[in-house]
Formats: sequence, structure tokens, C-alpha cells
Amino acid sequence: MQKNQFVSLGIESTAHTFGVGIASVATETDNKKAKGKILANVIKQFTTKSGGIIPVQAAEHHVEICDIAIAEALAAAKLKINDVDIISFSQGPGIGHCLRVGAAAARTLSLVHKKPLVGVNHCISHLEIGRLLTDAKDPVLLYVSGANTQVIAFEAGKYRIFGETLDMGVGNMLDQFARQIGIGFPGGPRIMNLAAAGKNYVELPYVVKGMDVSFGGILTNIIRKFESGSYKKEDLCYSLQETVFAMLVEVAERALAHTGKSELLLGGGVACNTRLQEMCRIMCREREAKLFVPERQFLVDNGAQIAWQGVLDYLNGKRTPVEKSAIRPYWRTDEA
Ligand code: AMP
Ligand code: MG
Repeated sequence: MQKNQFVSLGIESTAHTFGVGIASVATETDNKKAKGKILANVIKQFTTKSGGIIPVQAAEHHVEICDIAIAEALAAAKLKINDVDIISFSQGPGIGHCLRVGAAAARTLSLVHKKPLVGVNHCISHLEIGRLLTDAKDPVLLYVSGANTQVIAFEAGKYRIFGETLDMGVGNMLDQFARQIGIGFPGGPRIMNLAAAGKNYVELPYVVKGMDVSFGGILTNIIRKFESGSYKKEDLCYSLQETVFAMLVEVAERALAHTGKSELLLGGGVACNTRLQEMCRIMCREREAKLFVPERQFLVDNGAQIAWQGVLDYLNGKRTPVEKSAIRPYWRTDEA
């Protein structure tokens, strides 16, 4: 390949997904607007038929799939490992067992092939991949994934959290409810399908506190309703979506109002939900803001977002020497 490209291989392993992506950016060019490109995005998901995600099992899955995913990504990008300039990895936040596998793979590649290592913040990479792949310039990100639920925007020189969950991520909540009603993992898409057949709205707690949301009470309440046997699964799924998505849209709208920004970007696996997208679209239309929804492979956890964040961080001077590459399971977005 032409060596006027700077190439980053990125490894994602914060939770159930082991992903390897490759991103590049033109180096010797007069065109300052030269945009980055995604050359590969291999996603390997750990799934189960009934139970939820068990960290040790997910980590074992990642170990088994690691070599194959790296080889597939290089093949898809038509590159050899020697064409790669840096190795990026998700340093946090996430599940320790899972993060450790990606970090170990990244350290190994870095040491064996003598490539600089860059540890990136997973949450921020959702925002930056969205900026790369959509026309969003300075958006508010509604980041709704398994473990995370945050409203993030860049303001006054840093990424800030404008609202977040006070307990579990919305995806984990959906997954836990799905497990209770025996429809397996990941629960979000299965709940979405059942919800489409729901007709009757069942009253559930609506928990927005200032700019933050909380899902624990709603989960307990809806599980109790399910166990009572008086409600149809479909109606409960429908009501759950209507309630928690309304909460998310409310907080996202308030962040738009507060920051004066006029772009909403979606990120995270739960953003694949067509009902959530529709509710966001309506809210944006009403306040003359623009909604940006990256394609599915870039909404869910993926290696491309990590590879691209690695490019941005590296070009900003960031290096992560191996001795400082310990995982950061609780890394806060506003500390990055
Ligand atoms: P992530 O952690 O960003 O990879 O997202 C994974 C989460 O997204 C899991 O909790 C899934 O249940 C959830 N998810 C995936 N697709 C959908 C969907 N269509 N509706 C709601 N949640 C979804
Ligand atoms: Mg994520």
C-alpha cells in the first residue's frame, strides 16, 4: 500500500464484543480536510441462548477468537501487520475480565512488532466515530449501551458528561429483564420485537433526577408485574421501551438546550432500537436540531471506533507505554 497513510489497528473488548478495526488517515496531503477512513471492522460477539453475560465466559470467548479477529481485520484491509503504525486498545471503562484480554493482545502486538501503543477511552470513541462517519460536527452524544448510559458533549476544552445513569446502563437493564422473562441475551433486540406486538401501556415508574436517570426501580417493578402473571409479555416490553426511552430523550433534549448545540448523535447498542431512533427524531424535529445515527456496525461496540480514537489521540501526542497500559475499568469520560 502507499505509505502516505497513517494506520491504526484498534482492539475493542470492554464487554461481550471482541472487535478489531483498522483506521487510516492520509499523511502527506495539502488537503487539511482529509478525512479518516475505516478499512476494516471485524466484530465477534459473545452471546447466549438464555442466561446473561458471564464475565469469565465472555473473556474465554475473546481469548479464543482473538487471533482470528486480528487476521480477518488485516485481510479485510488488505494489509500486513507491518503496514500498521500504531496499536490502539480500549483501556476502559468496562468489565475487567474482558478488558484484560484486549489489553494483553494489544501489548503483545505492540512489543512483538515494535509499534507504539495507545490506550483509548471507550465512551469518547463512540462520539468520535460518529463525527467521522456522519456529518455531525459538534454533537451531543446520547450513548446508550449495555453498561453505559451517558449524555456526552465536548465543551470548554474537554469531554463532559451532562447526564448519566445513577445505577445500571439501559442495555443491562433490558438484558436483565429479558433474562427474567426467558428470552436470552442480548435482550434489547428481542424486547424490541415483542414490544412491536404490545398494545396496552402499563404504568411504570419514570425516574429522571435532574439530568440523570435510574433504571433499578423500574426493573424491580416490571419484574414484579411479570411475575404476577396479570400482564402480557408484549405489553410489558412495549411499556418498558416507551418509559425508559422517554426518559433518555428528555435528558438528551435538556443537554441540547443547556449546551446550545443543535446536533444529536446516537451511540451504543441500544441506539439500534428503531423506536428510540424515532423518538429522538421527533424531539430533534420539534427543536430544529439534526439527528445523526451511524450504521449499526458502528453503533455497537466495535474495533473501528478504537482504531480511529487511537489515530486522534496519537496525533494529539498520546502514547501509552506498556508499563502504563493497565486497564481502567472505572475510567470516567470527564477524566479522559
Ligand atoms: P454495546 O454495549 O454498545 O455493544 O450494546 C449492547 C447492548 O445493546 C445490549 O444490552 C443489547 O441488549 C442492546 N441492544 C442491541 N440491539 C438493541 C435494540 N435493537 N434495542 C434495544 N437494545 C439493543
Ligand atoms: Mg460501547
